[in-house]
Amino acid sequence: MRQSELFTKTKREAPKDEEAINAQLLIRAGFIDKTMAGVYTYLPLGLRTLKKIENIIREEMNKAGGQEILMPALQPKENWIKTGRWDSMDDLYKVKDTSGREFAIGPTHEEVIFPLLKNTIFSYKDLPVYIYQIQNKFRMELRAKSGLLRGREFLMKDFYSFHTDEKDRDEYYDSMARVYKNIFDILGIGDKTYYTLASGSTFSKYSHEFQTVTEAGEDTIHICNKCKIAINNEIIKENKTCPKCGELNFSQKRAIEVGNIFKLKTKFAEDFGLKFKDKDGAEKFVITGCYGIGLGRLMGAIVETSYDNKGIIWPESVAPYQVHLIEISNLKSKISNFAKKIYNSLQEAGVEVLYDDREDATAGEKFKDADLMGIPYRLVISEKTGDKIEIKKRNEEKTKLVSEKELNEFF
Ligand code: ATP
Ligand code: MG
Repeated sequence: MRQSELFTKTKREAPKDEEAINAQLLIRAGFIDKTMAGVYTYLPLGLRTLKKIENIIREEMNKAGGQEILMPALQPKENWIKTGRWDSMDDLYKVKDTSGREFAIGPTHEEVIFPLLKNTIFSYKDLPVYIYQIQNKFRMELRAKSGLLRGREFLMKDFYSFHTDEKDRDEYYDSMARVYKNIFDILGIGDKTYYTLASGSTFSKYSHEFQTVTEAGEDTIHICNKCKIAINNEIIKENKTCPKCGELNFSQKRAIEVGNIFKLKTKFAEDFGLKFKDKDGAEKFVITGCYGIGLGRLMGAIVETSYDNKGIIWPESVAPYQVHLIEISNLKSKISNFAKKIYNSLQEAGVEVLYDDREDATAGEKFKDADLMGIPYRLVISEKTGDKIEIKKRNEEKTKLVSEKELNEFF
């Protein structure tokens, strides 16, 4: 991508009312635009990063046996009445059409997926089933001041597993916890993300959260210094010692919940009569597990854990481009031709390159923008570098001059 043609420009200032660091940096760098509090547009750079996160998650969900579907945001009120959540869920957006008919705008999808499964599950032979989607959720969040960490409209991966019995569900649940760990490792936040015991909802005693340590986090967690699992502040009172290793030695940290997994009893299966005929001929309710990850929140959390006073520092797995190629030439032609040649050869090699070919920006502006955008590798071609190319990693200070051949070998 030629930067001269990029739809967005960097900004010196973020909107005055934007307090969160993730939103300030992402807006200034041209990744997102604030449409209103808690609602953002993903711009070309931001969408590239979001899609990378999405594809990493999708790949892991498919490996875990998941089959992807897409459920609607507009949902029938009757289903929400059936589960009791039309009245009990505080953050549910409700809309009415001109005929007076009411709908829910989905904050989650149990009210759609359970009725859906009634069409396909009849016998124990039809189970287990693993279904997921990556779809926008809507929630009436009153405090929407955390940028991408807490949106009113936000992208979530929600995965549902359906089983004949609790043992099968529990084994799958534990395997999904390992899949989640792997996802956060790939996303570059594995070392800061803790498997956290949390209180359950009305449907389960406990749930497990994946909490990424950052000052921007809204939760407080207690990390066991011995075995490194964590307990959410809400339930630490019940657990004087670590539930895993029995130690009494915790570090208290602020953190943001990037993922959440929980076991459902038969609550929704009962509401919608989702039953199957077991081997012994008895009719039983289906047993379920639910597994969520917030993609926008993850993107915000990555920024919150990886930036400096100059801008964002993207992990390679989610950076919008791998290479930021900067051309600095007053006397055009020769330098410019060399830069174009490098740009083309990198692209041919399958490297994603943002090529700063702008004629109206100074060298200083180009370097500033590159630091703000946070692309992992910066290449500079200028009169000074001659027939070599200067290479620098975003998170390192040292630069190195390499030949064209060495560069091609490196990427
Ligand atoms: P929180 O306690 O932060 O409100 P939650 O318990 O309501 O989260 P879930 O319903 O379990 O969240 O949703 C699954 C995942 O969706 C969360 O782990 C989080 O990553 C993401 N998520 C939830 N609410 C939001 C939001 N308002 N904005 C962005 N992501 C969100
Ligand atoms: Mg919530």
